[in-house]
Amino acid sequence: MCEQVLGALGHCSNHWCSRADRHFSVVWSLSPLTTPLRWAIGRFKYRAEGLWAGVFARLLVGFLDDHMPWFDGYDLLVPVPAYTGPGARRRWDHMGAIAGAMTPLAGSRWPVSAGAIVKVAETPAFAHLPLAQRRSCAEARLRHALVVPAGPAVRGARILVLDDVFTEGSTLREVARAMLRAGALEVAGLAIARQPWTRGPP
Ligand SMILES: [Zn+2]
Repeated sequence: MCEQVLGALGHCSNHWCSRADRHFSVVWSLSPLTTPLRWAIGRFKYRAEGLWAGVFARLLVGFLDDHMPWFDGYDLLVPVPAYTGPGARRRWDHMGAIAGAMTPLAGSRWPVSAGAIVKVAETPAFAHLPLAQRRSCAEARLRHALVVPAGPAVRGARILVLDDVFTEGSTLREVARAMLRAGALEVAGLAIARQPWTRGPP
């Protein structure tokens, strides 16, 4: 899950990697979260510099194409949903913009469905929360803000969820949980960047 080298006993120090209730199967990332990537994602996400959508879309689809045997079995690409309604922290759905730019590039190989899961209320920002609080905040708030609209999109599908930065998995866990409950067969993650795991278990 976190791409660390396993210890002598074959175990990973990231507690998520051995948890049966994480709901998502596996997470891929294009790169560790480097300083230039953090800058580019920040310009895009927080300053709404929309031109980055095409850059990130091309990188993500290029990664899918380059690693075809891994991604052959996924039926649907779904961006992590954003809330952009009244009271939203940002009125800008940055992952939705990337998904939109991926649609013509991914073609019929990987259909993109931005509406397969939606977020109907604002939730506290995770970025500055301590690790231990992220999971409880996700369970208490994010879980109730995620809705999978009725319909055939998710049922029976193997889904790859797109996100900007994968940190410790609390967001993906809730997205995966909601889509599995709606009938998805598998939910995995694909992030532009991964925060390298530097902390031990809580
Ligand atoms: Zn691990």
